[in-house]
Amino acid sequence: MSNEDYYRLLGINRDAAADEIKKAYRKLARKFHPDVNPGDKQAEERFKKISEAYDVLSDPKKREVYDAYGTYSDNFRGGASGQGPGVDFAGFDFSGFGGSGFSDIFSQFFQGHSRTAAPKKGEDLEYQVSMGFDEALKGLQTRITYARRETCQTCKGKGQSTEERMHDCALCQGTGRITQMKGRMKFTTTCTQCGGSGRAGRACGTCHGDGRVPSTDNLEIKIPPGVQTGSRIRFAGKGDAGVQGAPAGDLYIVATVGSHPFFERTGDNVSCKVPITVTEAALGAKIEVPTVDGRAMLKIPPGTQHGQKFRLRERGFPSLRAATRGDQFVEVKIVLPRIADERSKEILRELARLNPDDPRRDLFKF
Ligand code: ZN
Repeated sequence: MSNEDYYRLLGINRDAAADEIKKAYRKLARKFHPDVNPGDKQAEERFKKISEAYDVLSDPKKREVYDAYGTYSDNFRGGASGQGPGVDFAGFDFSGFGGSGFSDIFSQFFQGHSRTAAPKKGEDLEYQVSMGFDEALKGLQTRITYARRETCQTCKGKGQSTEERMHDCALCQGTGRITQMKGRMKFTTTCTQCGGSGRAGRACGTCHGDGRVPSTDNLEIKIPPGVQTGSRIRFAGKGDAGVQGAPAGDLYIVATVGSHPFFERTGDNVSCKVPITVTEAALGAKIEVPTVDGRAMLKIPPGTQHGQKFRLRERGFPSLRAATRGDQFVEVKIVLPRIADERSKEILRELARLNPDDPRRDLFKF
């Protein structure tokens, strides 16, 4: 017995043909078979569920019961028609059903009564939003169109037809309880078909008993500044509608952020490379550098080396977690002048004489 959505498990539509069901099952079975996933409990569990779904949906009689009730009980395996091989009612005490025989029970089985689905929170949904580097920096307001399941308006989410009066549940005859014999022991349990309510009605023709229908929704979303690729922003209650009055699921916006031609981003920090002249590096200078906010002054101290990095505090991306910003790191690249004239060459030679330093002196110590 299971309340799983078999169609969803197999990834097929409710009107899928027999060969489609077989194909979907084979594909999934190959993927989750325990032989392929040794020791993987999750895959094993999944394989069992897929097999259970296939067992029911591949059998037209079982499928009919499942479509009508949203569930299929092994207790009635092979017995849906009240005849045929595999009928096994051993262990069942039908005296608890008010004296009605098999045929009564199963004739009612096929009248399309729906099981009263238990309340269940709606599923969470994910929606990908791509944005540019600057949009991620400043935040983004946009309208998205996405698919979600909303409460069925025909049945107001009840999953049952409003045109027909509620019946007593076919399985428990309205008592909400079923009695089962195990040897000489008698067990009374909550009815598995009506969930103990004792009531059942015809499945809603619009939503086929789910209480929800596929729909397309529009939503104005505000993405805060500072998101990066993979950031998830939650929009509470914007996922699938819940079942039987349970709350809706949430919608998660998953961001994909584009790159920038000049800045490189690492988390909340940005970095860039800025060229400086030999003179600026040697004597020190104040230079203008680009930041994500516009221009800023950067002090180059005398004796700066090629590849040295400087930090501009709080010039990075806003943090999603705290009211702070990342930093900007500026790596300087020393650009040599292209010297052609004799006067400049003479000055450089003079410079070398005044600074007789050998930068390779340590290379031969090893
Ligand atoms: Zn409905």
